[in-house]
Amino acid sequence: MTRSVLIIGGGVIGCATALALAQVGCHVTLIERSSLGSESSWAGAGLLSALLPWDYRDALVRLLDQSRAMYPAWIEGLRSSGIDPEYRSSGLLVLPPYDLSKAFSWAHSSAEPVEELPARQLEPNLAFDSAGLWLPQVAQVRNPRLLRALRITLAQRGVTVHEGTPVTAWRSVGGRITGAQTPQGVLEADHYVIAAGAWSGAVLGTLGGEYGARLPVKPMRGQIVLYKSIPGRLRHMLYRDGFYLIPRDDGHILAGSTLEDVGFDKQVTDTARLNLMQRATELLPWLHNAPVVAHWAGLRPASPDNMPIIGRHPEIENLFINSGHYRYGVTLAPASAQALADLMLGRDSQFDLPAFRWPI
Ligand SMILES: Cc1cc2nc3c(=O)[nH]c(=O)nc-3n(C[C@H](O)[C@H](O)[C@H](O)COP(=O)(O)OP(=O)(O)OC[C@H]3O[C@@H](n4cnc5c(N)ncnc54)[C@H](O)[C@@H]3O)c2cc1C
Repeated sequence: MTRSVLIIGGGVIGCATALALAQVGCHVTLIERSSLGSESSWAGAGLLSALLPWDYRDALVRLLDQSRAMYPAWIEGLRSSGIDPEYRSSGLLVLPPYDLSKAFSWAHSSAEPVEELPARQLEPNLAFDSAGLWLPQVAQVRNPRLLRALRITLAQRGVTVHEGTPVTAWRSVGGRITGAQTPQGVLEADHYVIAAGAWSGAVLGTLGGEYGARLPVKPMRGQIVLYKSIPGRLRHMLYRDGFYLIPRDDGHILAGSTLEDVGFDKQVTDTARLNLMQRATELLPWLHNAPVVAHWAGLRPASPDNMPIIGRHPEIENLFINSGHYRYGVTLAPASAQALADLMLGRDSQFDLPAFRWPI
């Protein structure tokens, strides 16, 4: 039976979910209150891994591994858009401090190559000589391009997208949602998915009752500073103690990011800019001479332990959530979308669905 699905939120999670459901023949409508990919999914750095994967819970590490394994085919599926999202396995060089034995045991269970070597062997222009942990398979993607590729692919797959269309209220009868109210009218579907990132609790809250308040997702601001340099001057992603540098093909280098619990405030601050620049030049002194060409902030959908919530509403049978991806939503998008589609369609799943159920 063909199902109709209404997805609320046009970030990477909403778009990926729309794509996964359209691919299996669902009639999908996606509504976004502003424009697709304009919030956290645009602002993120696009590093496709947990920063130190060995620091997270097993279920999350497995989902991250599964999603990373899906990435090449997922990107291939966006090729018809004509946009190159710059998916590149540029590798991640982790500088001390790190826990070598935890890293090697994660590498063993994930079958991921990890090697300790002199860091300057890979990045000769580093400010200091130290050992580094080299993870050659860690990839990156360029977020705005990924979102543009998704937008075009959704149109090619027949997904209806309404931008400038917020959900403002719900209609429900007997434990089922019957419609989502928007300023443009009521939209109806068999199933509804909330994928509204940091705003998921607010969207849910318009249902009334207690679930809006119980959704453990809140905004966590992150700021990034963008340098312009010469292509190839930095070749690999660098990470040290909560801070990273990510080189793009065209010589841009992202320096990020802050973790700030300041509610829905998306402003950038001088303090963060100066701090990020200081950390960047501590690693690569030549960045003193590279211009900072942009500085932005985004609101991550923060959740306890970075665990996303991918599940069915406990009382409303046709309402689902795909949210709370916190620091790793771009990495987790293909797997989260597939997991939600499995759950909605009642299919056997390779994913540990109970680990991400709602309420957690
Ligand atoms: C600085 C920074 C760095 C990051 N770095 C990385 C990284 O390197 N790797 C990684 O994997 N992840 C990273 N992330 C995290 C990642 O960006 C997020 O986890 C991911 O983008 C979340 O996607 P989302 O679709 O859930 O949310 P969003 O992209 O925020 O999308 C939610 C959408 O819902 C819409 N919406 C809200 N309310 C309504 C409503 N009432 N009606 C309709 N639509 C609504 C919003 O307008 C928004 O477009 C980073 C994030 C930040 C901020």
